[in-house]
Amino acid sequence: MMQNKLLKIIEEAERGRIMTVEEMTDLFATADGKVVQELFQAADRVRHSAVGDEIHLRALVEFSNYCRNNCCYCGIRLDNRQVERYRMEPDEVVEALASAHRMDIGTAVLQSGDDLWYDTDKIIRIIRGIKESYGMAVTLSIGERSYEDYQAFKAAGADRFLIRHETSDPELYAELHPGMTLEHRLLCLRRLKELGYQTGSGNMVGLPGQTCLSLARDVELIRDMGLEMAGIGPFIPAEGTPLADAECGTLNLVLREVAMLRLSSPLLMIPATTAVATIDPQGRQQALRCGANILMPNFTPMRYRESYRLYPGKACINESSEQCIGCMSRMISSIGRTVGRGPGHSLMQNDECGLRNDYRTNCKQDG
Ligand code: SF4
Repeated sequence: MMQNKLLKIIEEAERGRIMTVEEMTDLFATADGKVVQELFQAADRVRHSAVGDEIHLRALVEFSNYCRNNCCYCGIRLDNRQVERYRMEPDEVVEALASAHRMDIGTAVLQSGDDLWYDTDKIIRIIRGIKESYGMAVTLSIGERSYEDYQAFKAAGADRFLIRHETSDPELYAELHPGMTLEHRLLCLRRLKELGYQTGSGNMVGLPGQTCLSLARDVELIRDMGLEMAGIGPFIPAEGTPLADAECGTLNLVLREVAMLRLSSPLLMIPATTAVATIDPQGRQQALRCGANILMPNFTPMRYRESYRLYPGKACINESSEQCIGCMSRMISSIGRTVGRGPGHSLMQNDECGLRNDYRTNCKQDG
């Protein structure tokens, strides 16, 4: 019987057996509520034993909404003329993190569109400013750059880098990202791993044209690349984009992926993203109960927040950082967990390149 088969897959995955793509496809596709609940509970148990009950906070600063790309789902894509654009000066970015440091948050996450106005020197100034002023861990989420840039940012002190692959389906990727390729995205990830960054990727769930098989391959990709972090969010249609009228992704499918990621890569750092809170007020709590262990309070100055709209209805943009921390602390204790202290580095060992199977290739090759 299908239910027994799926429950057995979950039980074995909890004990460490690697799930096949076919098995994960079945877990994405099943309509059996008992199986889905067991999947979530097994992932929560693995999260507890692998990374513990601490939830680490990462202070997010969205420092520029300029972008040279035209991703079809993104509210700040180049061609969206309705967006009021802004850029923060390097010193302003550093200053925005002062209160996060006072609140004992150990990591700064610097996010922007793919904006080359911030050349190598400006990014280095920001990294050094944060390191010298606060000693926080620095995570960059600034898109595709050259190997030399990644190398220079690492030498300046950057600890982590996030660059989501969004979908592991190369054709769908090409359709959604004009002028970009999945191959180059993965090359960036390999380079970052090779340079010793704690590296994160992630994907959207519910994209038009996406299948359960393709979602299973997203989990496989994150596992086989040996990534340290993965952010999963629902596709949310945004005004002023070619996908404005498409259907939104569902929370349930996002949670299934979070759970399968936890079973597949027990030590992964998985945020409960703002996007899940946007489609469901309880979304983050639910994600934290089925595998997630990170929250990202927003420290972007209030005057810019409204303009960093990757999708509409974004949760928590009107709350001050202090309110945000208060709310998150209550959320954390209400589910019986604790706030993590210190930088909350990945517990994974970063081997020579950290890559498995097909992903182990020469990172310096051009793409
Ligand atoms: S998803 Fe990122 S790279 Fe694509 S348009 Fe939006 S900000 Fe730019």
